[in-house]
Amino acid sequence: MQVKGIARDTLNFILEASKSMAPQEFAGLLQEKDGIITEVLILPGTESSDSNAVLRLSMMPNIKAAGSVHSHPGPNRSPSKADLRLFSKTGNYHIIVGRPYDSQSWTCYNREGKIIELSVLDVEFEDYEEI
Ligand code: ZN
Repeated sequence: MQVKGIARDTLNFILEASKSMAPQEFAGLLQEKDGIITEVLILPGTESSDSNAVLRLSMMPNIKAAGSVHSHPGPNRSPSKADLRLFSKTGNYHIIVGRPYDSQSWTCYNREGKIIELSVLDVEFEDYEEI
């Protein structure tokens, strides 16, 4: 599936969620519709403060997604080894968000961990269906 980009609203949601979760990691799976990432499947939160969001992502059964998203507590947005393992499991668009969680604080990687361009699209949600 060729993904054209991510909806601006969806990206803003990711950035806000990452900011509000910090210093804990925010994590979710990216879902696309008609080639546009418009939805984030958020993982159920856990109580413990040292839980690793990426590990929780990789433990999800039957992962089928356009990719994944998670936040880092600091400004470093390079994927860790665990991140790369997760990237190879599902989808081809993996966003890592870092401090300060503004519109520039994210990077998209492909399944091999190479930086790729992901367009931010202004889309209308008129025919958007709630599941
Ligand atoms: Zn990470």
